[in-house]
Amino acid sequence: MAIARNIVDIALAAAGKANAGRIVRVNVLAGELRGVIPAQLMFCFGLMAENTIASGAHLNLEITPVVGRCRKCEQDFPIKDYSYVCPGCRGQDVDIIGGTELRVRDIEAE
Ligand SMILES: [Zn+2]
Repeated sequence: MAIARNIVDIALAAAGKANAGRIVRVNVLAGELRGVIPAQLMFCFGLMAENTIASGAHLNLEITPVVGRCRKCEQDFPIKDYSYVCPGCRGQDVDIIGGTELRVRDIEAE
């Protein structure tokens, strides 16, 4: 719910800056580690957007994959099924460098 409110707030602020009359689409990037449930987020977004210029806007959710970086050989690699093992050197000393973001990429307004 808090995430949906954030997204609406950001979209409204962006629309205000652009002097837009109505928001038709909000493009959101959500890292896989955020555990966002698309249907749930879309539902909450719809509720939060009611009685604002974002009412009826389409929420486009793009899930970004988890990316790790090996501390030993500095290779970046996608992490699947929570397997934090470097495919290059089999090292397990891995930093997470992607998959935790949550942001509004852009909005489409008219
Ligand atoms: Zn490695």
